[in-house]
Amino acid sequence: MYFKIFYHDIFEKHIVPNGHPERSDRIKTLNELIIYNFEPYLKKIKIIDPIHLIKKIHNSEYLNQIYSLKTNGKLIQLDQDTFFSENTLIAAETAVSGIIQAIDYVMKKDNFKAFVCSRPPGHHAEPDKAMGFCIFSNAAIGAKYALEKFDLNQVAVLDFDVHHGNGTQKSFESEPNLIYASTHEMPLFPGTGFSEEIGVGNIINEPIGPSTNGKTFIDVWKFKILPRIKLHNPELLIISSGFDAHKDDPLSSINMTSEDYKNLTNMIVEFANKNCKGRLVSILEGGYNLNALNESVKFHIDALIV
Ligand SMILES: [Zn+2]
Repeated sequence: MYFKIFYHDIFEKHIVPNGHPERSDRIKTLNELIIYNFEPYLKKIKIIDPIHLIKKIHNSEYLNQIYSLKTNGKLIQLDQDTFFSENTLIAAETAVSGIIQAIDYVMKKDNFKAFVCSRPPGHHAEPDKAMGFCIFSNAAIGAKYALEKFDLNQVAVLDFDVHHGNGTQKSFESEPNLIYASTHEMPLFPGTGFSEEIGVGNIINEPIGPSTNGKTFIDVWKFKILPRIKLHNPELLIISSGFDAHKDDPLSSINMTSEDYKNLTNMIVEFANKNCKGRLVSILEGGYNLNALNESVKFHIDALIV
């Protein structure tokens, strides 16, 4: 068996206000999905203290702020749409532990792959602040960890969430060994991700317009992004897998279908198998229509298992 899903029920306990799109039900429905459909592949995340790894991306001022928060049973608002509840810190730490354990798993042997079914998401969290539902920059922390722990030369994060991963980009923009590539609807939150933002030649941004269909979305990855990723010779791929470009998602107007996510994942898997010894870790970012999220994640996992 060459595939594992890293999961934990603590993610259900990161609480946000009623009506917030990034809610516990997202993980409740996905935990039901994976237990019902993918039980042989499940690996419960071990709760470890990942602070030494979080510190590689986030600065001490921000971490002092987050680690000193006292909720007293109430919700604390960190920015316009990011909230902190009693179990938010342990959930955010467990998401980091999840990607670390997934990376350790895929680096064991060629062609091993993993999916981290976690929340809160990570790609908007910047080195010095929480942002856009995100507390810690999970994919960036994982990439940095992989680079150092396994003495790799290049790790790439591929972000197909409908929003630009400003946090991952910010963590990477002066790090030539870390590659970040993103498709994202523009204009849309957070407003970054213009194609002129290239870091030190390691950032690839392909903004796309509203109403783009699945075929065009996938073609951007096929013809504009993956050939440029190949030039960097990454030894590990991390996918920031947000499913909020789905046609039924309330936060965007791109028209991906669940099938399109299967096709896109198949293409990335093929790329990883050809160019990165098959090493691939995917971590959940967005996706806010529960039916669309459920179906898209199922197709995504189906494609990762093959
Ligand atoms: Zn998103």
